[in-house]
Amino acid sequence: MKFTQPLPTVTDHVRRFCISCQTETVTMIGSTPPYTWSCSRCNTVCDRVLSFGMNTILSKSSDDTLWHESVAVFVFNDDRKILCFERTEYPIGKLTIPAGHAENDKSLEASALMELEEEVGIADVALSLIDSEPLHESCGWGIDDHLWHVYRTSVPSSTTVVLNDEGVNPMWLTAEEILLRNPVFGLEHFTRKHLDLFH
Ligand SMILES: [Zn+2]
Ligand SMILES: [Zn+2]
Repeated sequence: MKFTQPLPTVTDHVRRFCISCQTETVTMIGSTPPYTWSCSRCNTVCDRVLSFGMNTILSKSSDDTLWHESVAVFVFNDDRKILCFERTEYPIGKLTIPAGHAENDKSLEASALMELEEEVGIADVALSLIDSEPLHESCGWGIDDHLWHVYRTSVPSSTTVVLNDEGVNPMWLTAEEILLRNPVFGLEHFTRKHLDLFH
């Protein structure tokens, strides 16, 4: 996503721009996920909206491309299986692992720990960084490029998993099983890249 206007001033509320005409003329349709967005200027209806003013780390490169930074955690159990679930938000239904945007006022590791606790209810674990790589991958907030920071951790197989409203159907899968189950782009990329490490 290229955005040629100056980045909007951060306010105390999220500012939303049409993904097509990049004007602040969108309204949300529906009150529960999955949301769609409608533009009163160009009549585009879309499942994504360009959003500013959140705590997410956002930058703009010299060619006006917008970037988010994101974190993800591969959680292994005693059987060397990885904790996954299905998304209820964009991209809906795809398999994912605990992941989300990195936040301005936290370290990357603290952002990863926060996602882990929020999305699957796992806390008090040690993370180790296994990769950092930029990927061309879109998110529901209208950005098409993300710098990913990928961590791993281990938990006992008896660990209780508690999903929040961003996910359903928690499951423990081998790396090979992940690749057969419609993973989000980043999960597929990092699983293939680290197959040797994940055995
Ligand atoms: Zn528009
Ligand atoms: Zn994003």
